[in-house]
Amino acid sequence: MNREPNAEIIQRVEITSDLLILRVKPDAGVADFIPGQYVTLGLLPDAPRPKEFPIEETPPDPTRILQRAYSIGSSPLEKQFLEFYLAVLPSGALTSRLVLLKPRARLFIGPKITGHFTLQTVPQGKNAVMIATGTGIAPFISMLRTPGTWDQLGNITLIHGVRFLRDFAYRDELLALAAKNLRFRYFAVSSREDPPAGGYRGYVQKLLSNGIVPIKADTDSVFLCGNPAMVEDVEKILAPLGYSQHTKKNPDGNLYYEKYW
Ligand SMILES: Cc1cc2nc3c(=O)[nH]c(=O)nc-3n(C[C@H](O)[C@H](O)[C@H](O)COP(=O)(O)OP(=O)(O)OC[C@H]3O[C@@H](n4cnc5c(N)ncnc54)[C@H](O)[C@@H]3O)c2cc1C
Repeated sequence: MNREPNAEIIQRVEITSDLLILRVKPDAGVADFIPGQYVTLGLLPDAPRPKEFPIEETPPDPTRILQRAYSIGSSPLEKQFLEFYLAVLPSGALTSRLVLLKPRARLFIGPKITGHFTLQTVPQGKNAVMIATGTGIAPFISMLRTPGTWDQLGNITLIHGVRFLRDFAYRDELLALAAKNLRFRYFAVSSREDPPAGGYRGYVQKLLSNGIVPIKADTDSVFLCGNPAMVEDVEKILAPLGYSQHTKKNPDGNLYYEKYW
């Protein structure tokens, strides 16, 4: 096992005690990537965890770097750092360690940025409906921050579902974008607390099934990211409307998704 980390934390923003934005500078610089892609972050298995977190029932393998995939939230045009948006799980092997990293802390970043959850195969001029739960908003933030997205697509609708009001990361940026760009609409949906002004209470699925966000298979491509239960529910709602998953074998498919677990 190579025990030499190859990246550094340059900024840490605590959205809540269990939601973090980390900006990471790879020693080798920021490689080219496509908005929507991901890379692995890692730590040595003996990295410390907060004392108040539950003791691990199964400690990680001491002979391997502890690593997981994370979507990149920054634009590929940002060459100083990669941004990540993470949910800290007190019983999660890696995130219960990542939570202690402060600026200048060292970590591992995977050698390859990869993933097919991108806008590359969406036909020019089509609209995109992006639906995220929790930290699943990260790849959409990368897409929205990249000017090429706006040259390629027609209108963009982003629906972000969270549990509590405090979990609406990136809200100011999204509101500012919606105010200046008439092709962008942003819907905030909270399940356990009343939503902010103009938002909705419940699950993201509700905005599709009750027609608040109308979608048509011939004009709107749909992107889903985050909780696998949300992805499966939305897929069921969309199938009768003519949506099917985009794959190499089904290149006309207009539904794209990234399940986080
Ligand atoms: C392509 C891809 C991109 C990803 N991008 C992100 C990202 O940008 N941000 C992010 O926070 N996570 C992301 N994930 C999830 C991430 O890889 C880890 O699974 C997550 O951080 C938990 O790791 P852990 O070692 O702390 O937990 P583990 O010890 O591996 O425990 C995993 C368990 O925790 C639960 N879990 C995993 N992720 C979450 C979550 N976000 N919220 C609630 N419960 C969860 C599931 O039950 C899962 O089985 C991504 C996953 C994939 C496959």
